[in-house]
Amino acid sequence: MTTPLDNLLDLDQSALKAYCERVGEKSFRATQLFRWIHHRGVGNFDEMTDLARSLRAKLAGVAEVRPLAAITDKTSADGTRKWLFDVGQGNAVETVYIPEDDRATLCISSQAGCAVGCRFCSTGHQGFSRNLSTGEIIAQLWQAEHTMRAKLGLGPNERAISNVVMMGMGEPLQNYSQLVPALRMMLDDHGYGLSRRRVTVSTSGVVPMIDRLREDCPVALAVSLHAPDDALRDQLVPINRKYPIDELLSACERYLDAAPRDFITMEYCMLDGVNDTPAQARQLVGLVKDRLPVKFNLIPFNPFPESGLKRSSNARVQAFGEVLLEAGLVTTIRKTRGDDIDAACGQLAGEVQDRTDAQRRMTRAIPIVAAAPSAASKPTVPQPPKQ
Ligand code: SAH
Ligand code: SF4
Repeated sequence: MTTPLDNLLDLDQSALKAYCERVGEKSFRATQLFRWIHHRGVGNFDEMTDLARSLRAKLAGVAEVRPLAAITDKTSADGTRKWLFDVGQGNAVETVYIPEDDRATLCISSQAGCAVGCRFCSTGHQGFSRNLSTGEIIAQLWQAEHTMRAKLGLGPNERAISNVVMMGMGEPLQNYSQLVPALRMMLDDHGYGLSRRRVTVSTSGVVPMIDRLREDCPVALAVSLHAPDDALRDQLVPINRKYPIDELLSACERYLDAAPRDFITMEYCMLDGVNDTPAQARQLVGLVKDRLPVKFNLIPFNPFPESGLKRSSNARVQAFGEVLLEAGLVTTIRKTRGDDIDAACGQLAGEVQDRTDAQRRMTRAIPIVAAAPSAASKPTVPQPPKQ
């Protein structure tokens, strides 16, 4: 059997230095190599013209820059572009490029599937298959950045992507060891040169790993809150049973000591009749006010058939937001982008070989007790769909 080539996308600059030394090269070569790969987007050693021919030949024998194969590549009417990448053994993950007037954000996946199993999330319904490697995480940025740079006609010192959010498929803090080197490459001036404020890790609340991230690589933090009390959050975001809201907020308080921003973003997916009443908004105010500086980001739920849940009406989202705003909490309502290509939050389904039996567990899940009926309609008690 032939030994597989080492994937240089797995290595941040310090690991690449160690790698160069191991193959008998001076460590400063690593910076040159790293720049060719990440700054210039070159994956073929032959094109790295200022490296000695002998080094290029040596590298070609042991290493490669392994791209991801795109299964589909779709662009929405609003310019949002979504790639579905093959990660082998029947698994695929999605990456979404979101252009705006003053920035362009890339939404990156960290796992094939997700083990947390949130009720309102399409990825969660699919179950978990495996963690992505550092190389598979950074390849999403490598490919999107250099593809978009070429498409937009940008020069080698211009950037197509200004922000990264770890909000694709998977729970990034349950793939910590592979995540952190990828974050370091995003921040590296010889790589993508993104500031810590422009790289956001979004988590469902893996408390011990929030503390580790604060120590190892503090970037902007977003927390998927979605409920104002433990009883409801236990059902919507099952990891809450292990790390309840109070512990989560304490971890956020500690995180602020090292965070590049002076607030934590709280994501809140608006589910009709479940978590969207003015009373629940007031409960949220009570949770965070005078405790933790936060910005709320209200996300209109993007429905998918198996969820059995509905999106809150615009009026209800507005009313909820107003309660937060009146209490002095900065609140935004997320625009839904890329609807026509299923690229919106929580619609990322990829294709996952479930190794955790999530489908069966979901259908046995305890029904969520509705908070209050929406408008004057009859009460809704969302039930897991019957199979
Ligand atoms: N696992 C991480 C990051 C990926 S999910 C986390 O949960 O934070 C990114 C965001 O999309 C989270 O806030 C998540 O709650 C939200 N989301 C998931 N499913 C959604 C859906 N169907 N509609 C709207 N937002 C959704
Ligand atoms: Fe996983 Fe995040 Fe989806 Fe929850 S919302 S299932 S943590 S990807």
